[in-house]
Amino acid sequence: MPRRVLITGASVAGNTAAFWLGRAGFDVTVVERAPGFRDGGQNVDLRGVGREVLRRMGLEQAALERGTGEEGTTWVDGGGRVVARFAAADIDGDGPTAEMEILRGDLARLLFEAARGHAAFRFGDRVERVDEDEGE
Ligand SMILES: Cc1cc2nc3c(=O)[nH]c(=O)nc-3n(C[C@H](O)[C@H](O)[C@H](O)COP(=O)(O)OP(=O)(O)OC[C@H]3O[C@@H](n4cnc5c(N)ncnc54)[C@H](O)[C@@H]3O)c2cc1C
Repeated sequence: MPRRVLITGASVAGNTAAFWLGRAGFDVTVVERAPGFRDGGQNVDLRGVGREVLRRMGLEQAALERGTGEEGTTWVDGGGRVVARFAAADIDGDGPTAEMEILRGDLARLLFEAARGHAAFRFGDRVERVDEDEGE
């Protein structure tokens, strides 16, 4: 009988853990307090180990395709004149703007879709702390 694992939160970390633990043969349940999958959030950049994890999950290309298309960062003065500019292409995709920029909700959804086949999900439920005094 597979060992059972309970994960709180169907977001970035929870879905990623569910994917890997489910694939490794654990019986995984993810509990998310929101009534459904949570979209939303601004762009996050993925580099280094985070990107390597995505690559090993087979999701790197899908994440690139859902990228924000951010080309760089530009500072302007009060008159709208450019005073500094960091173009992603000039810094090999590893400056203020990474090669992989994606909205948090799009990233979490990619991970959620990948994890669904490996775990059970319970939305609108939560893990709550029980104080020792109350438990007695
Ligand atoms: C809707 C949303 C928008 C965000 N927007 C941005 C952004 O724009 N930029 C940015 O840098 N970061 C943003 N973040 C934070 C970002 O997702 C995290 O910093 C990072 O991705 C780590 O994710 P995580 O999975 O560890 O935690 P989180 O993304 O915070 O996810 C935790 C999940 O656990 C659930 N949860 C918490 N406690 C319980 C409980 N007791 N029982 C059941 N479920 C529980 C929460 O509802 C949530 O879905 C956002 C997070 C959320 C939830």
